[in-house]
Amino acid sequence: MSDQKFAMNPAKKIALVAHDNKKQTLVEWSRFNRDLLVQHKVFATGTTGKILEDVLGVKIQKLQSGPLGGDQQIGAKIVEGKIDFIIFFWDPLEPQPHDPDVKALLRMAVVWNIPIACNRASADFMISSPLMNSEYDRLVPDYGIYRVRKIDIEEA
Ligand code: PGA
Repeated sequence: MSDQKFAMNPAKKIALVAHDNKKQTLVEWSRFNRDLLVQHKVFATGTTGKILEDVLGVKIQKLQSGPLGGDQQIGAKIVEGKIDFIIFFWDPLEPQPHDPDVKALLRMAVVWNIPIACNRASADFMISSPLMNSEYDRLVPDYGIYRVRKIDIEEA
């Protein structure tokens, strides 16, 4: 079973998400990395995106607010190949109304081998990687066998 290759362009499609208690951290990180971020296409959940547009003065593709489905939209875009990189500062100390969506998004990132930084240090290492501005072949397991797995259905 060989892996499938998904080519990432030098300009990445990046999704930025931060829970409320982490929005300040994401704002500071984004301010610091503004010049790098503008080289990519940036998406964000609704509230995060609105705040970042204001402080960075750049256009951000805003989705729904996270608890209203924004995390799920990002997950769907991963599956469609429309997001290839995530910075997701989730809050480890407070339950969220959309915890199942958060878990689903983290899961989709792993299923499709999407780089995801969940804290500031990881985001620092990722954004400063030489791979950020080069082509990169993202390897995804060939899920063909899963798609054709045998399911026993009893006769009516
Ligand atoms: P928000 O959503 O940017 O709309 O606040 C973030 C989240 O909780 O997923």
